[in-house]
Amino acid sequence: MKLWVRLLLALSLLLNHPGPIAAAAEHPDLVLQGGKVYPSPTAGPIDNAVVVIQNGRIAAVGKRSELKIPKSAQVIDCTDKVIVAGFWNSHVHFEAGWQDIPHAPADKVEAHMQEMLTRWGFTTVWDLGSVPSNTLALRHRIEAGEIAGPQILMAGDIFPKNGHPVYLPAEMQLPEAASAPEAKQMAAQYLKMGLDGIKLFTGAFMGNKPVINMDTAIVKAAVDVAHAEGKPLFAHPQNRIGVDNALAGGVDVLAHTIPTEGSYTADELFRMKQQHTALIPTLTLWTTVVSDPAVADKLVASGVDELKAYFSEGGTILFGTDVGFQSKYDTAQEFEYMGRAMPWRDILASLTTNPSAFFKETEKGRVEKGMNADLVVLDADPASDVRNLSKVAYTIREGKIIYSASGKM
Ligand SMILES: [Zn+2]
Repeated sequence: MKLWVRLLLALSLLLNHPGPIAAAAEHPDLVLQGGKVYPSPTAGPIDNAVVVIQNGRIAAVGKRSELKIPKSAQVIDCTDKVIVAGFWNSHVHFEAGWQDIPHAPADKVEAHMQEMLTRWGFTTVWDLGSVPSNTLALRHRIEAGEIAGPQILMAGDIFPKNGHPVYLPAEMQLPEAASAPEAKQMAAQYLKMGLDGIKLFTGAFMGNKPVINMDTAIVKAAVDVAHAEGKPLFAHPQNRIGVDNALAGGVDVLAHTIPTEGSYTADELFRMKQQHTALIPTLTLWTTVVSDPAVADKLVASGVDELKAYFSEGGTILFGTDVGFQSKYDTAQEFEYMGRAMPWRDILASLTTNPSAFFKETEKGRVEKGMNADLVVLDADPASDVRNLSKVAYTIREGKIIYSASGKM
């Protein structure tokens, strides 16, 4: 037989292999077996599934009956559990309880990380302001494998002149930009330090005194510097002027709703949509800033209305809770509030596909072959109750277990 005929025959034999069983990976690091996989917020679930992880990536996803698992693999039994992509928290701070990271014992830092973030399924977080040298040290210790934690992206804060918010200690040195050149220089400095974005206080809360807003020209100067390097701009708006100046200056993300204003105007919603601005609702936060529960309820209701209005316009929503500034770490409440404005699948998108697409981390956000093995194993199905997104059994980052409810890593 001629060589080419033999090759053709061999190829046709390969292609016509009758068995449905495919070898998933030769040497997987970890296998999640059983359970229901939601590959993405828009895809239908795969029941009784298998997720095979190799070299920090997803090597295969499919029906358990259709994938062959090597005997040597470490298998996690996920029967009756639900597997989704790793979560993003796009608004945290490594502030309260994170002092002196370079010298803190690793077990103490990891325990706090677990309490605040990893036990809630977070594999990627945006730190929207802290002491940069301290958080850079934390990031370094995580990436060196010393502390189990999420990927940390960092934004550097810029405040308006005389806009030192009342809730931040008076002795804290804050970078206040009085002019566009000053803002430009501060933004450039942050990016030079290795930070990933900039956060502007387009409105600073001054207690009984009026909010101090940042001029649009100053906003725009910082936006230009960051955008020239492909980095995102966040704004803490505080009030309507803070939103309007952020939008006029071309900010990418509104880091809070503005519940004291009651609602966005039609013009604001139009501009947000047109400029592809993302919104982080931080609804739980509004229960922590006032002592009267009735006032808190009103603020939350306004925040929910604003979220609903922008979501209904088709706007991009990113999950974020401001933990590390506020200390209600449990995410169940935020899911319940968000659930008043949007369906659970869209809340899952705010935790996974939305931030991955918005921040161009295209290898995250879905449970699909070739993606980063950032995964959350849930004890219950969010389809029956959105608060089940907080019931985390395992958090896995790049194939490594960074949190296990049973304590086994
Ligand atoms: Zn914050």
